[in-house]
Amino acid sequence: MNSEEITSRLERKGVKPTANRILVYKTLAGLDHPASLADIESLQLSMDKSSIFRVLTLFHEHDVVHAFEDGRGILNYELCLSEGACNMNDSHVHFYCESCQRSFCLDNIHIHDIKLPEGFHAHSLSFVVKGECAECRKKNHNL
Ligand SMILES: [Zn+2]
Ligand SMILES: [Zn+2]
Ligand SMILES: [Zn+2]
Repeated sequence: MNSEEITSRLERKGVKPTANRILVYKTLAGLDHPASLADIESLQLSMDKSSIFRVLTLFHEHDVVHAFEDGRGILNYELCLSEGACNMNDSHVHFYCESCQRSFCLDNIHIHDIKLPEGFHAHSLSFVVKGECAECRKKNHNL
C-alpha cells in the first residue's frame, strides 16, 4: 500500500496523516497476521515504543485498527477494513497458538450478529480460539 492510499484511508477515518501514523499503518498493512506493540517495535526501528503506542491508541479510538487480546492477554492490532466508522461487523475469530505464540486471523469465521442490548456500544470485541497451529501440531506430534 502506498503513502497516498494510506493518507486517504486515514483521512476517511478522521485521523490527520502524520509521518509516524503513516509508518505504523504501513507496517500493519505489510503483515498477514495481527501484531502486538512489541512486534511492531521490532519491525519499526525508526520509532520508539511510546510513539508507536500513542499512534496505536489513536488508531484504536478512530477505528483505524481493531484490537483483541491474544492468549497471553497482550493486545494485538490489525487494520480495520471498513471505510469510516466501523460497527465491528468486519470482525472475525482469531486463533492463538500456545506453542509458537503467534496469532492467526480466521477471516472466514465472522463474528457478526452480536446484538447488544439497547443503549450499549462496543469498542472492541474478542473471540480467540487457543490451541496449536497446523505447523506446530505436525512438529509436536510427529504427524
Ligand atoms: Zn472494522
Ligand atoms: Zn504454532
Ligand atoms: Zn484478524
